[in-house]
Amino acid sequence: MLFDNHNRPINYLRLAVTDRCNLRCFYCMPAEGIHYLPKKHLMTYEEIERLVTLLASMGISKIRLTGGEPFVRTDLMQLIERIVEIPGVKELHLTTNGVLTAPHVPVLKELGIASVNLSLDTLDKERFNSITRRNEFDNVMKTLHSLMDYEIPVKINAVVMEGKNTADILPLVEFSRQYPVSVRFIEEMPFNGEGSHYPKLNWTYRKILDHIQDAYPDIQKIQDPANSTASHYKIPGHPGDIGIIAAFSRTFCGTCNRIRITAQGGLKTCLYDNGVLDLRELLRSGKDDEQIRYALLHAIGHRPKDGFEAENRRNKESPVHESMSTIGG
Ligand code: SAM
Ligand code: SF4
Repeated sequence: MLFDNHNRPINYLRLAVTDRCNLRCFYCMPAEGIHYLPKKHLMTYEEIERLVTLLASMGISKIRLTGGEPFVRTDLMQLIERIVEIPGVKELHLTTNGVLTAPHVPVLKELGIASVNLSLDTLDKERFNSITRRNEFDNVMKTLHSLMDYEIPVKINAVVMEGKNTADILPLVEFSRQYPVSVRFIEEMPFNGEGSHYPKLNWTYRKILDHIQDAYPDIQKIQDPANSTASHYKIPGHPGDIGIIAAFSRTFCGTCNRIRITAQGGLKTCLYDNGVLDLRELLRSGKDDEQIRYALLHAIGHRPKDGFEAENRRNKESPVHESMSTIGG
């Protein structure tokens, strides 16, 4: 088992395989002018496989592939096939926008994918087009239905944006009455490539919960899975459930079990830090596994206690405003 300096077990890696994306979600990227990394700055599949093998030998057992949009990277399925074979990897999860995902669902099922998180901020096609700045709603819905048909556990991720999709909260809750999916509402964070959209976040987890509670007074708090960032709720009669993620308020750091590797191979031991180790550089400078393991242990042994401490440490160099597409969520 791997533990950080606050005695939190670390067993979960979120890995961004690309910073490129076929959508331009309002909360994640500016409409234009985003500068993608040159291809040579992305980690190769061989480098990713080596890192995952090393981390799995240290105690990481759960991996999530994310991006950017993972399916815009060529031959993603080949990487998935390699990762599920790595000793110690017990669960492989994916976060995707669903635009290109549907044709791969049968093979994902065969490979034993543990779950898929699908980003879907509205069930209204026009609002989808306006939030994502692309006309891909039908493809995303096809992915959602295919995942459910193949009985792959699905979580819908919806970022709550003031003035954009607060009218979609209740229809998304209704979706959990029709289908056995988990619908998770996420506080908007300033990771959008531009900086904060608001002087103060109005739609906090508290306000989201109050809004749902007004419409569903019999909503019940249920037990959260260990290390979950979401607070879970159940509405009697709904096969699905509801989660609310206080991503901006950061109420869950005390049980955080995750590290992140960005598209360019930067290690983040907290979502809000500025990258604490350049893994790509270590790999390309010929360091052996023992040297990389030592560097990883050092970084994990110096984790900030929470996202506020991480943000304070970085603020002197560069305040939070990078796009989530390089970090992976
Ligand atoms: N492209 C894939 C997708 O959209 O699912 C994977 C990458 S995306 C960056 C991962 C997650 O980050 C998505 O669920 C998205 O909703 C979330 N996200 C992106 N920007 C965010 C922001 N500023 N605040 C909160 N969540 C954000
Ligand atoms: Fe692309 Fe995902 Fe960011 Fe939307 S949230 S722009 S789909 S990376």
